[in-house]
Amino acid sequence: EIRIDKLVKRFGGNTVLNGIDLCLQPGERVAIIGPSGTGKSTLLRCLNFLDRPDEGRFTLGDLSVDVARASKADMLAIRRRTGFVFQNYALFANKTARQNIMEGLTTVRNWPKPKAKARAAEILQQIGLGDRGDSYPSALSGGQQQRVGIGRAMALDADLMLFDEPTSALDPEWVGEVLDLIRRIADGRQTMLIVTHEMQFAREIADRVVFMEGGRIVEQGPPAQIFGNAQDERTRAFLRRVG
Ligand code: ATP
Ligand code: MG
Repeated sequence: EIRIDKLVKRFGGNTVLNGIDLCLQPGERVAIIGPSGTGKSTLLRCLNFLDRPDEGRFTLGDLSVDVARASKADMLAIRRRTGFVFQNYALFANKTARQNIMEGLTTVRNWPKPKAKARAAEILQQIGLGDRGDSYPSALSGGQQQRVGIGRAMALDADLMLFDEPTSALDPEWVGEVLDLIRRIADGRQTMLIVTHEMQFAREIADRVVFMEGGRIVEQGPPAQIFGNAQDERTRAFLRRVG
């Protein structure tokens, strides 16, 4: 079980996350939707300690951390168990696709290079780039770069995968292939939290949809309920705007 309890994040005087409680069962796929500036990215970043949360508790199986007191070792332990996929891929430009995928394995996981290389070869096959391992990001299309970004997170065999609008920086022509890859990962019942503005996609892959506004979870439920029969007026207003 993965639990987030009363997570709070402030930037200066601005409370961006105002007590987020969320629980995921193993294999559960949860989509987060909501207006811009609502704290969706901040939530994911806090879960991976890319942003330092101010209050709350994060529990991943047998590991439970008071985020305000988290030590370096706690943060590393959490990072080992979570994979993050960034909107803008965030690949190392001076590393090949293979090296980008190996990076987390050799640094966060301390794997020896040959083992990481073998794992990267498997992943390159799975993301459909079996013959592009030696390519640098600049030689890859946006869709291919994001598949490498996803492959890097897949390589970690994470307990939880975090996707932050993984297709929103892509030219429309590359969106389909990236959604297909995420769909395949979801079909494997990878536990995931995915922030997306692709409502159709959320409806299709998520077991549960969470609507956030103003740093809080306003409403959550199965896709059919949120998209078909939302209870909160704020949810309905948002869906009217984006739908
Ligand atoms: P979008 O849909 O546009 O991606 P979001 O829901 O992901 O929006 P966040 O990026 O989490 O929203 O931002 C939430 C709020 O936190 C915004 O008001 C933003 O300006 C603020 N914020 C985010 N990161 C920082 C930062 N590093 N320093 C100060 N304020 C920040
Ligand atoms: Mg965001």
